[in-house]
Amino acid sequence: MKEWTDPFNSFNSLKGLLYRKWMEGIIAGDFLPPVEASIDPVFNCNLDCIWCNSQNILKNPDINVHIMSREHLINLCRFLAEWGVKGLCFAGGGEPFMHPDLAEVTEMLGEMGADTAFLTNGTLIKDRDIEAMVKYSRWIGVSIDTGNRENYAVIKKTKPELFDEAVENLRKMVEMRNRMGSNFEISYKYLIYPDNAPFIYEAVKLAKDIGVDYVHIRPAAAENVLGSTDFHLQFPLDSINEQMQKSFELEDENFRVFGIRHKFSPSMNLKRNFTRCLAPPLLINCGPDGHVYLCVDHRGKKQFSIGKHYPDPENILTFWGGEKHRNMMKNVNLDVCPRCTFGVYNEIIEKTIIEDRMCRNFP
Ligand code: SF4
Repeated sequence: MKEWTDPFNSFNSLKGLLYRKWMEGIIAGDFLPPVEASIDPVFNCNLDCIWCNSQNILKNPDINVHIMSREHLINLCRFLAEWGVKGLCFAGGGEPFMHPDLAEVTEMLGEMGADTAFLTNGTLIKDRDIEAMVKYSRWIGVSIDTGNRENYAVIKKTKPELFDEAVENLRKMVEMRNRMGSNFEISYKYLIYPDNAPFIYEAVKLAKDIGVDYVHIRPAAAENVLGSTDFHLQFPLDSINEQMQKSFELEDENFRVFGIRHKFSPSMNLKRNFTRCLAPPLLINCGPDGHVYLCVDHRGKKQFSIGKHYPDPENILTFWGGEKHRNMMKNVNLDVCPRCTFGVYNEIIEKTIIEDRMCRNFP
């Protein structure tokens, strides 16, 4: 089953080959400022998705700071952009738009020349946020994860009206982006789970009707639902493949469908084609609790904190690439890692930077 019609897209993990300079720095033990910062402005959410990978944070009584102060968020983002971070993504640990100051921060970063992006459930976005994003941001991914309000209420354990809110916000974004003609890219995101698998094609038709640029479809991770990498989810593969086939037929020059397979096993569960944890320094993850976590998949776990960005973000310079950071990567036990967001980047470092399997000196 194909994944896309054009390989030059943001969801193709071979994008990792662009980061050779950073990867060589990792192998040399000389970490560069990360390419991206993943900022969690809150550890909080207004939904309760079945597959949520932040459940360990949202339900952890030991985490007592759930929102970054406005002042610290501004200081942190300004520091990161000045340090050399290229892209700042406001994401996980819950729903970033539960923070009231994202529009202001987006405008500030845009004026500084940094790229911004957002991963959100789309239900809390205000008109002011849309204006700032359309003017200054590179992309947004809105997790709708189904094609109708009834199923939405089931898989997100909420009221169906929030489906309407998220769809309406997508329509507003598309309308304003088209009117302003910016390069802000808008994705409808869909995590497949057995309970929403029948509605993929319905969602793709809706996404095209809304006018988004992409639909990004991939499987939910079993370990987030079942609590262990030993268990697998049973996906109805024939039905999924059939719906994907029909979905690709809806593509046109303004609308693309991505059904991601390369990161997963044939049954759409966990796959690991690497033996070491090497890629985390491509990204810095900053939580509202003041900690910098080794990677986004271990956000909110104190044993994966490499240091604190609070109260002074410049403190990051004292531990980034330091002994604790390097040793933590060396000691990662892959058997207890969840599905690794940077799995293919780990593989690229091993196979192209260390082993030179692509004969890099011969273009
Ligand atoms: S999930 Fe595990 S292997 Fe992947 S980056 Fe995080 S610590 Fe490393």
